[in-house]
Amino acid sequence: MNTLTDKDVAMSLLEDLTSNVKQIQDEVLEEILRCDANTEYLQSFLHGSADKELFKKNVPVGTYEDFKPYIERVVNGEPSGLVSGRPLTGFVLSSGTSSGKQKLIPMNDKYLENTKLLTDFRSIVLSKHVDGHNQGKSLKLLFTGPSSMTLSGLPASYASTFFFKSDYFKNPPSFWDTSFTTPGEVIYCPDTKQSLYCQLLCGLVMRDEVTGIGAVFASIFVQGMIFLEKTWKDMCSNIRSGQLSDWITDLGCRESVSKILGGPNPQLADQIQDICSQKSWKGIIPQLWPNTKFVEGVITGQMAQYVPALEFYVDDQLPLYSPAYSSSESPFAVNMNPLCKPQDISYTFIPNMSYFEFLPIDEGNDDAIVDLVDVKLGSYYELVVTTYSGLHRCKVGDVLQVTGFYNSAPQFKFVRRQNVVISVYLEATTEEELLKAVKRATEVIESSNIMLRDFTCYPHIADTPGHYVLYWELKGNNYDGISELDPDMMVECCSVIEESLNALYRKFRSKEKTIGALEIRVVQPGTFDSLMEYFIAQGATLTQYKTPRCIKSPEALQVLESKVVSRFSGEKLPHVDSVLC
Ligand code: AMP
Repeated sequence: MNTLTDKDVAMSLLEDLTSNVKQIQDEVLEEILRCDANTEYLQSFLHGSADKELFKKNVPVGTYEDFKPYIERVVNGEPSGLVSGRPLTGFVLSSGTSSGKQKLIPMNDKYLENTKLLTDFRSIVLSKHVDGHNQGKSLKLLFTGPSSMTLSGLPASYASTFFFKSDYFKNPPSFWDTSFTTPGEVIYCPDTKQSLYCQLLCGLVMRDEVTGIGAVFASIFVQGMIFLEKTWKDMCSNIRSGQLSDWITDLGCRESVSKILGGPNPQLADQIQDICSQKSWKGIIPQLWPNTKFVEGVITGQMAQYVPALEFYVDDQLPLYSPAYSSSESPFAVNMNPLCKPQDISYTFIPNMSYFEFLPIDEGNDDAIVDLVDVKLGSYYELVVTTYSGLHRCKVGDVLQVTGFYNSAPQFKFVRRQNVVISVYLEATTEEELLKAVKRATEVIESSNIMLRDFTCYPHIADTPGHYVLYWELKGNNYDGISELDPDMMVECCSVIEESLNALYRKFRSKEKTIGALEIRVVQPGTFDSLMEYFIAQGATLTQYKTPRCIKSPEALQVLESKVVSRFSGEKLPHVDSVLC
């Protein structure tokens, strides 16, 4: 059990771990093999041996699907020893909303211990770069989802829920900035709407004390800001009267937030009203929370699309801080340079979190796999993880690029999920390509003071040729919203996206005509909230929720289709690269 209590110890541990990567990774693998040699999965390749070289020679690189049959047997009541030598304490539900299916990943104490350690490192890195980051209060939008009991008697829940309910989170070391504006009862409230309202209200009441603000993922924070735009008047009247709105019925929320409201505070209500009733909310965050030093939340990978919205709310006055890279399989890495620009964010791998291997993505065969210490600067890899809880050489599904080293620990830029997000013919468009293309198109609408609130896509293959459908929710930067959408501008957006997609897409679209014109369907404001509510009703959790980049489930598509207000299609054929002609 990790007993770090003090900042200096954590700092020297971070230096130590990042300076001895090879030795620590060796020890991690040794320990895992010693514990897991007799699990059914490893037995079939190693016959009880715990030899590291044999492990690398005999155990294939797999995906979650390879482990699933074993995990399901444990979920259904067979002994956990068939998956992991260490006793399991539960199953982590991965957000998994893109495929519509959730993964159940075995978990034990080590997962929470390592998550706590990563949080220690986040805090000390922050303290090195941001003066007084933990001297005030933190307004962090945090939520917990429900836990269900599996037939095995072990609970299943989200990684964040397990962590927020653990003693590590409830009794943090003093150097964490966990003096939250939100009382625990609100974080544990099962109704996310009541919880969000109360979290923002408490943050407003304590606005002068707030020194840090954010959420785990940028998407949730942006959603919180949009919710604030709709509800600040109610919040002001709660502050003015000292009475919480009647629709907050959760007892824990009512009691704890009423105490924070104290009594009537018309002066504070007036101040907030003055700020919030401005025509534009550009730069609203530093106005509402004048002492906050940063806005925190993951802003890389799929979350990069929320950067323009965050930049709008902070108006260049505050850094956006993306603290760590982690997943339901394992915590991985920490951002050592909290004040860098969003495009420069890299994460330093912490070698005692799990055993890490890297599959060069251009080579694609298992023999080319390398250890953490052997990755090459500039190269792209797919991350493969061997965890303390029964995943052995399992692909995480993320592509990373080596950008440098902290001591001897490699640092990686998050490139993309290793998956094809959409395809309607023989082309394969990745999430990264789609995000880049959409980003270019948003530059077209930005000049009209319009922001892309969120988007997703759908491969329309019911007609031939098939075509890409993008659902866009737009938002005006000014208080009045969007008065009228210029059709020429929207058609131009379709063309910019098509022009920015990969060469094969353009060839099929322009030369062979086997792909039809890309379509943007604009949906009503609030549609992506409804989509999220739909997925939460299906079992997703708000803390880890990420808008699926491509939607195939008919029910989820129905949520979008019912809110379409206008449709636009590309009119120009994109260029074709001569080499492909
Ligand atoms: P989940 O298992 O549901 O928590 O999702 C984990 C996945 O979220 C990772 O495999 C990544 O694809 C993504 N993710 C987590 N942290 C980051 C990050 N800092 N930057 C980019 N993507 C991230």
